[in-house]
Amino acid sequence: MHAPRKALPEVDTQRCTGCGWCVGVCPPHVLSLQVQGTDRFGPKRSVLHDAPGCTGCALCAVRCPFDAIRMVRRDALKAD
Ligand code: SF4
Ligand code: SF4
Repeated sequence: MHAPRKALPEVDTQRCTGCGWCVGVCPPHVLSLQVQGTDRFGPKRSVLHDAPGCTGCALCAVRCPFDAIRMVRRDALKAD
């Protein structure tokens, strides 16, 4: 089965504050807050952990108070 191309959220880690609003509004729960880098006490950023599960609804991008999420069209199954 081949998943159709769709827009996926791309998080700008410079703008993301780790507030978690996007995680809360995502209907399929495919966003999560994850620590960046190797310091486990470091700052958390929003990460799309299940790209194939994302519907491309853009609710996360609309909800983000810091304008940190951009919807980008790409192959949902491409690992990058
Ligand atoms: S809503 Fe925006 S700032 Fe908050 S965690 Fe999500 S991407 Fe980051
Ligand atoms: S576009 Fe929709 S389904 Fe995809 S991560 Fe954002 S809120 Fe979740």
